[in-house]
Amino acid sequence: MPDSNKDNLPPLRDVIAAHGLNAKKSLGQNFLFDLNLTRRIARAAGANDGGMFYEVGPGPGGLTRALLAEGAHKVIAVERDARCLPALAEIAAAWPGRLDVISADALELDEAAILPQGVRIAANLPYNVGTAILIKWLTSETWPPIWASLTLMFQKEVAQRIIARPSTEHYGRLSVLAQWRCTAKILFDVNRGAFVPPPSVTSSIVRMEPLAKPVAPCELADLERITATAFGQRRKMLRQSLKPLGGEALLEKAGIDPTTRPEDLSIAQFAALARALH
Ligand code: SAM
Repeated sequence: MPDSNKDNLPPLRDVIAAHGLNAKKSLGQNFLFDLNLTRRIARAAGANDGGMFYEVGPGPGGLTRALLAEGAHKVIAVERDARCLPALAEIAAAWPGRLDVISADALELDEAAILPQGVRIAANLPYNVGTAILIKWLTSETWPPIWASLTLMFQKEVAQRIIARPSTEHYGRLSVLAQWRCTAKILFDVNRGAFVPPPSVTSSIVRMEPLAKPVAPCELADLERITATAFGQRRKMLRQSLKPLGGEALLEKAGIDPTTRPEDLSIAQFAALARALH
């Protein structure tokens, strides 16, 4: 196993103190200091196989350092908080030519213009924009997408929504969008005490890989419309919640019982509704 101190960088606690990186809640900043944990995440992302990685929100660089120490050939990292840039520059100096840092908002970035095909994404996502960033990756216009895998930290409750199956508590719009054309599983949980400052909830590492094609054909825009409308009134029967999109006639066209509730529809049935809407 590679030596965890082979970058000769100071402990993250010292990095934070030296650069005055007091965590900002508005930027969803909860930092990981434990390099054994960040290395476990880096291995889950496949960094020990080498290759190219994209990291959103490196902060002081705990996961970035782990990705490089585990064997990533190159990491491209995008960080919104300019205060973190000097700390990240120190990591780049310790790993010459292997870390590029972009100072930007990941939600605004045209990733297809800067990332190579097959890049793997690893990130401890900021809680306040994590779902929006995931949806950006899931709704890529081209499929298979530019990324070969996602290894992401979310609040456990969001992770449960991503992997939920029909007729279970957490099944919803995010489950359908994620599983329509990806595999998704929770790898392990991370205790809130692992973060500085600790968030109010447990986190989970989720791993997703794109399927070559969706589980059932339909247009993404139609699927987004159907799921948003159906789950907008989660407890109602579909004949009621889908009224704005055609109600019973639409359901009949898709071969679905109009008294069904959205949480009981399979992803293939959502795709059938999306095709009927189209
Ligand atoms: N990766 C570090 C770790 O594991 O300790 C920090 C994770 S912290 C939960 C989230 C990071 O994302 C912060 O550094 C924050 O500044 C950054 N961030 C927040 N919003 C962002 C955005 N829209 N684009 C890029 N980075 C963002």
